[in-house]
Formats: sequence, C-alpha cells, structure tokens
Amino acid sequence: MLVCFFTGSKTDSPWGCFLSWKRGCAAVFVVMLFFAEARLLRAQVAQAPAAMGIPQSESVVGNTNALAREAQDWLVELVKINTTNPPGNEQASAKYIAGILTKEGITPEFLDVAPGRSALVARLRSSAVADPSKALLLVAHMDVVGVDKSKWTVDPFGGVIKDGYLYGRGSIDDKGMLVANLAAFIALKRGNVHLNRDVIFLATTDEEQFGEASLKILIAKYWDKFAAGFAINEGGKVVLKNGKVQYVAIQAAEKVPVDVSVIAKGPSGHSSVPTRDNAVVHLAAAVGKIGAYTAPVHLTSITRRYFEGLAAIEDDEIGKWMRVIEAPDRGEHAQRMLSDANPMWNSMMRDTVAPTILQAGVRANVIPSEARAVVNIRLLPGDTADVVVGELRKLVNDPAVTLEIQPDAGLAAPNSALDTQLYTTMVKVSAQEFGGAPVLPFMSAGATDSAQLRLHSVQAYGLRPFPMAAEDDRRVHGDDERLPLAGFAKGVDLMTRIVAEFSVTK
Ligand SMILES: [Zn+2]
Repeated sequence: MLVCFFTGSKTDSPWGCFLSWKRGCAAVFVVMLFFAEARLLRAQVAQAPAAMGIPQSESVVGNTNALAREAQDWLVELVKINTTNPPGNEQASAKYIAGILTKEGITPEFLDVAPGRSALVARLRSSAVADPSKALLLVAHMDVVGVDKSKWTVDPFGGVIKDGYLYGRGSIDDKGMLVANLAAFIALKRGNVHLNRDVIFLATTDEEQFGEASLKILIAKYWDKFAAGFAINEGGKVVLKNGKVQYVAIQAAEKVPVDVSVIAKGPSGHSSVPTRDNAVVHLAAAVGKIGAYTAPVHLTSITRRYFEGLAAIEDDEIGKWMRVIEAPDRGEHAQRMLSDANPMWNSMMRDTVAPTILQAGVRANVIPSEARAVVNIRLLPGDTADVVVGELRKLVNDPAVTLEIQPDAGLAAPNSALDTQLYTTMVKVSAQEFGGAPVLPFMSAGATDSAQLRLHSVQAYGLRPFPMAAEDDRRVHGDDERLPLAGFAKGVDLMTRIVAEFSVTK
C-alpha cells in the first residue's frame, strides 16, 4: 500500500495514485472555481451601480458596498426562514434579526402579538428625552404570501442565487426592504454619528392578512414603543427601463378598499320548470352591469403631479396625452387614451369596481332562492362608498337585487404632505442616486400599512429602493419572485443615504 504523494490518500499502485491525484486536482479545481465564482458575483454586486450608468455615491456614513454585501447574506438567511402567512411564524425572523442587532451593540425588543408572532423594534437615540414627533420609523413586514411550489423553478425558501438574482418568496416583498432598513439602521450605529432625531427600526407581522397580528393591533398595544412623526415603508418603486432608472415613485397616498355584497333573491324550485325570477339570472345581469361601470375621473393633487412629471419622460404619444389631461377640449379624450394604455393609470384616475366572488346553487337541478357576489371597490382618498354604491344601484335597477357595503372597509387616511423635510430629502437623494431621474409622488391602487400610520399623524412615504424592471416587478406575490442583486446593492445605498441625510447632524 502506498500513500499518494499528491493527495495523501492510500492506494495500491502508482496508477491508483495517479487516478487519485487526478481526482484530487479536480476537487481542488472545483473549489477554486467556486471561490472564483463567489468573487465574481460579489464583484458584480459591487460594480453593478456603475454598470447601470449610475454614478457611485458616498454618504455621510461612508461607502456602502461592503455593507450591501453583508446585507445580502442577511437577506438570503431571511428568505430561508419560511414566514408564509398564515400562520406567519414571524418570531423566527424576529429572532434572527435580533441576533444581528445584538452583535452591533443594539438592544432590540420583541413585541409579542400572538403565539409564534412577534414584531421587533430597536431604537437609536438622539437624546435622553425622546421627541416622537421628530422620530423616523423604518418599517417593513416579515410575513410573506404563500407559494404554489409546483410553479417555481427553484425552492422558494432555498435562498437560491442564480444569474445575478436572489430567488425566493419575500425577496422583494418585503424582506428586501426589511434588510435595506436594517442595513441603513446599522450604518448609523457603526458610523457613530450624531443624530438629530431618534431612528426606529420596526419589523412587523401579519401585513399580508391584516388579521390578529397586524399593525393595527401592534399600534393598539405598543404605540409608545415606535411612535414617530415620519416613516418610510414599502409602496413606492424605482422603475428600471432598458437598464436605466426611468423614474422613482414615492407613495404618499393610497386608495381605500371597500367590499360590497350583491344579493339577488327569488323563489327556489325545480329547474325543470324555470321562471323569469331566477336569482342566478338576476345576479348575473347585475354583475354584468357593475363590471361595465366606469366612474368619473377625479385627479388628486398627487396624481396631477405624477402625470406632469411622467409626461416629460414618456414617449411622445403618451406624453402628449398626459400634458392635456385636464384641457377643456381634449381632456376627456386624453383620459380615455391613458386609461386604455395602462390599467394602473386608469386606477389612479378614478374609483374602480371589480366583481371578485360569485356564489350560488347547490345542485344542477335546483333553482336557488339566493345568489351572491362580492364586488371590491377601490376609492380615491376623499370619495365615499355610499356615492359609488348609489350609482351602482341606479345602474342595476332591479328590485330583486340589493347591494350591501361590508363593514371590513379599509382606512380612509389623509395623504402624506409633499412639503415635509423627509419627502424633500427623499426626492433630493433619489435624484442624486439615479443620475437626475425624475422623482414623482404616487398614489398606489393597492393598500399598505401606511394608511394605519397616516391615521396616527405619521408622514409616511412608500419607497421600494431597488431599481427593478417591469418583468421582475410583476413577480411580486407570483411565481419565481426574484430580486436583482445589483438593484439590491443600489437600494441599500439609497436607503442609507436618505436616512443619514434626514437624521444625522452634519
Ligand atoms: Zn408587502
């Protein structure tokens, strides 16, 4: 028996030693390749902002490249912690984040809301006596929506990095933001900066279901732990088109969801002897009319500014309509063209009505006495469900059909102001970060936790700081959700610089 000189392994012959040497070399080669790959990927992340044609920036807390690489590892670990809601199980995430904060010398606090569900809060103090009206809250949710594993090309909870993306449920919504907030928060601590206001990090529970552990419950139980005058939350976006940041949208308002039950009644009976008062037929006719309803256009101050800003960068045809959106002669036509061009623009201009649930019947040969539908209405801030439902009743015009507004309506919150120091800081720093790209206020059609905050007098703004193409944006809540790592690094830099600019005394 020989001991192979090259590999140290035992072998019976020089040939065996040679084979073993080859295997050993192959193994060494694979290991080298792995490190080379890892270095390359890190280099890609570090260089990505420059590659995107965006100038590299320095913040008062320094260059963020190393921080972004560290934060990427935190994000991978958080994606691996399955916080699908229900049940949420956010406590596991909260514990992981608490470990990171503790290592930095920050003492976080768990806010228990339900079994297995804890939010996490941490604070950097500016002075011995807190002034909540000045404080900045960095808020993001830890829970995620469920997955259909069979439709994913990778394990949604594997933390898989492929082709410059981190794949995984929650990589965008909202764990990416959660980690960008955490990185910005830790950068302040490491920078040993002088703060002019308290900065509060809050990782929340139950955003996706808005149930037993939602922000509403957290506010009711623990408001004094994170009361703030200003907040940055999800809800905005950095729109990447052809590899370049086209514009940044900062969410300052959101539409209000209201559910309406549509109930048709008629006599039940045998389907072999049908009559004209079949509840299913009445409901179907009513839903058809409701689905075709188009509410009048109502431009809010935020939407007006959004279209004004977007007109400058959209192509000529679209830009032309945006510029005359309120012109007495061509306004109506322009509104129609824009509504047809983009369903989101349509949603921003008017109250919308979408039938979402139909329920009727138990047997093929039984005419049911009742048929029901649910219609989801999204109101512009300031509009009321009574007015819209009144219009729908007139349209349906059927005594066999009633419409009932459900009590689970969303919150009608005031807009966040566009002249606060936080908003102007976000605009200034975002424009610097993305080479002068326009930064526009935005009203989201979807609801976020910011409505809760605005109702507590918080000037809350939505920003998802990662430059992302529409193709990736579409995957939020969908299959193969993935975050571009170059965009992630850029988002960490942006968040860090906004938070520092707003909170650090120079
Ligand atoms: Zn979210």
